[in-house]
Amino acid sequence: ASSVEIRAVNKYYGPFHALKNISLSIPPSKVTCLIGPSGSGKSTLLRCINFLEEYDAGEIRIDGNLIGYDSPGGRKMSAKKLREMRRSIGMVFQQFNLWPHMTAQENVAEGLIRVRGIAKPEAMKRAADALAKVGLGDKIANHPSRLSGGQQQRVAIARAVAMEPKLMLFDEPTSALDPELVGEVLNVMKALANEGMTMVVVTHEMGFAAHVADQVAFLEKGELVGVDEPAKILHHP
Ligand code: ADP
Ligand code: ADP
Repeated sequence: ASSVEIRAVNKYYGPFHALKNISLSIPPSKVTCLIGPSGSGKSTLLRCINFLEEYDAGEIRIDGNLIGYDSPGGRKMSAKKLREMRRSIGMVFQQFNLWPHMTAQENVAEGLIRVRGIAKPEAMKRAADALAKVGLGDKIANHPSRLSGGQQQRVAIARAVAMEPKLMLFDEPTSALDPELVGEVLNVMKALANEGMTMVVVTHEMGFAAHVADQVAFLEKGELVGVDEPAKILHHP
């Protein structure tokens, strides 16, 4: 499992200072939750970790390797090198982003075939295994339209996990779900955490943060205002 070191990271959207000198250590095999008000920079920080969003100053290292740039403050790294680094990073978004014309199994297999170059029969087998792990063993032939929101999000998690990442990033993975479907997704995430996956989770689910996170980073107006033990967040002002 990967570790992430965020050191003095700054990010601007034009003149707007979105991340202000953020430093945070994300230890391997632990769950780090990013919480804070809407607009505080949680999603921006998460997306900087896999360089979906470019940071302007500072360093982000994954297992000691700088992501995004050849050297601190240096030139942007090549697309090929970035692709290589991203191979070990899985990401799950608020929206499930599944292909509507494909079954759950095909959705999960697609990345294995296209990104990993795994032959289709083997990819389909691994996809079925990944779907069984998220409790969808009996739904592999369903298209997304025949799955609930919670089931679709579990397919999205299976799709990321099938790629055997060493780090998983979650951007408000339950925010698009009806309340009664949130728990099934959080439970799948909890199981993944228990297997020792390094996870960074942007969430408003305080129960999950309090009970599953190993550390909780609290952002406010682009600043990291505290890194707390999970039990304390329920009492954060
Ligand atoms: P959070 O995830 O905490 O809700 P975000 O990281 O999405 O916050 O956004 C932080 C701030 O940056 C917000 O004020 C938002 O409006 C701004 N922002 C986010 N993305 C962009 C963008 N692409 N261009 C300009 N401003 C942005
Ligand atoms: P909230 O208080 O935000 O509604 P919940 O209490 O529903 O959140 O919990 C969200 C998730 O956190 C649950 O699905 C579960 O995975 C985890 N969780 C909640 N309470 C506990 C607990 N006592 N022990 C372990 N995990 C818990």
